Amino acid sequence: MSLRIAIIGGGTAGWMAANLLAHRWGAGKAQITLVEAPEIATIGVGEGSTPTLKRFFEVLGIAEEEWMPACCATYKAGIRFQGWSPASGVAQYSHPFLTQLDLHTEEAFTLNCGNRRLGLDVPTAPGDFLLGGVLAARGKAPLAPAHFPFRMEYGYHFDAALLGRFLRDCATAGGVTHHQAKVQDIIRDDLGAIAAVMTDRAGRIEADYFVDCTGFAALLMRGALDVPFVSFRSNMFNDAAVVLPTPAAAPVPVETTATALSHGWAWSIPLTNRNGNGYVFSTDFLTADAAEQELRATLGMLDSPVEARHLSFHTGQLARHWEQNCLAVGLAQGFVEPLEATALHLVLNTVDLFMDHLERGNFTPQYRDAFNAVITDRVERVRDYIVAHYKLNTRDDSDYWHANRDNDLLSDPLLHILDTWFRRGDLAALLARQPGLSHFTSASWNCLLAGYGAFPPLAEAQREDVDFYRSRDLARFLDGCSLNFPSHGDALAQMKKVAA
Ligand SMILES: Cc1cc2nc3c(=O)[nH]c(=O)nc-3n(C[C@H](O)[C@H](O)[C@H](O)COP(=O)(O)OP(=O)(O)OC[C@H]3O[C@@H](n4cnc5c(N)ncnc54)[C@H](O)[C@@H]3O)c2cc1C
Repeated sequence: MSLRIAIIGGGTAGWMAANLLAHRWGAGKAQITLVEAPEIATIGVGEGSTPTLKRFFEVLGIAEEEWMPACCATYKAGIRFQGWSPASGVAQYSHPFLTQLDLHTEEAFTLNCGNRRLGLDVPTAPGDFLLGGVLAARGKAPLAPAHFPFRMEYGYHFDAALLGRFLRDCATAGGVTHHQAKVQDIIRDDLGAIAAVMTDRAGRIEADYFVDCTGFAALLMRGALDVPFVSFRSNMFNDAAVVLPTPAAAPVPVETTATALSHGWAWSIPLTNRNGNGYVFSTDFLTADAAEQELRATLGMLDSPVEARHLSFHTGQLARHWEQNCLAVGLAQGFVEPLEATALHLVLNTVDLFMDHLERGNFTPQYRDAFNAVITDRVERVRDYIVAHYKLNTRDDSDYWHANRDNDLLSDPLLHILDTWFRRGDLAALLARQPGLSHFTSASWNCLLAGYGAFPPLAEAQREDVDFYRSRDLARFLDGCSLNFPSHGDALAQMKKVAA
């Protein structure tokens, strides 16, 4: 008999999980059901991705022409950070996703960062060394022509509601049974596992495995199974966001912008039909009204009748992401705040790793503890990377930024990374020694630390003989490469034509 899997929740996480499970196990190995309560809204944000979303669609065999126009999606070559470290003289920097070509320029970037850490005056702006940064600066889509010999990595911006609908249609077409019903009760068996959920419109739904995708409610994991939640609040201060759309930008940027404001930061996410904007802040330091006013002022919308949407969230993760016969995915498993847009990336990681571990254990919970250890570590390393953005800020305009800078509750792995950087040690070697596989490589850390200008003062005596890369030489090379790529506007228009 095939495995019965019931997914509870139809947000982006629920439908992504449904597609991945159906793709890998659908034909004969598993019967998959998804239950969602239409009267409980999805969170409705989460519109930027990492390159993991590209791999997700590749695994499912869905071409960009099929899903991007349907979701008002655009390409994302990276994130531009503005105003996070003004005191070190860096007004903004670009943190591009690394492509295969960057294997050739990354060395130059790392070498220059190393020399700058010694006090030498060498260029270190990440966007000047990495192809994605150059493409973003020139408004080019990261779409390599067939003859370009390197694989491109990039993410997307998309409308979350439209993506949810698109994924729902794919999943149901792939054999997933869909019920619109509210889970009202959760029945456990004698050993404490979940035997069934009771719904208002679809009756009793039994399964061998349940996937909790009920968002922050975590109805099954926290509500029924009592799995503790480990909060990150002590070193991640943000707990709220205010969201306001503006008309689509022209030309459409190829990167997310993350701009530091008085008590947090604002995202700008370019879609084809609108621009998504939101201010992420801490209610310990700023009221929701004041945040809305500041965002409106930033967007030139002080007198606009467009209504803002307010959200609250808590950062942290479940003590165990797989408990008994239940897996948590999406906001139900935890949240690390939206900077770096890693939530959907972790959704995809979680489902993939769950399937790997379940298969490895011959569909028994044999590797449950191993799975929990891996996911917990991944979430913590993402948290560390984001915490570093706050810890390293050099803003002086509010208590919020001072408190972030004074935050001493850093994990040991993060302390080691910062210590190695400032002691001029070998970051790549340190990261290779740290257990687990972080999404953020040593190149990502170099981007962040160099982007912030986290360097010692320049040495009085500069050396002429030192080996470093001049950005002028690289600029010529990367400029030449960029000629192969279409403008973002042309790429999106062409895709729309093909889709029609
Ligand atoms: C401010 C903010 C910005 C973000 N930005 C990004 C970003 O740029 N990139 C990124 O990757 N992520 C981002 N995220 C995270 C992202 O929004 C979520 O990870 C993603 O939307 C998945 O949400 P979800 O499906 O887990 O939960 P939800 O969207 O909340 O869905 C929960 C589902 O559970 C169902 N449900 C709840 N209770 C019941 C019940 N009793 N019975 C049946 N169904 C039930 C609801 O109907 C709904 O379908 C952001 C989050 C926030 C808060």
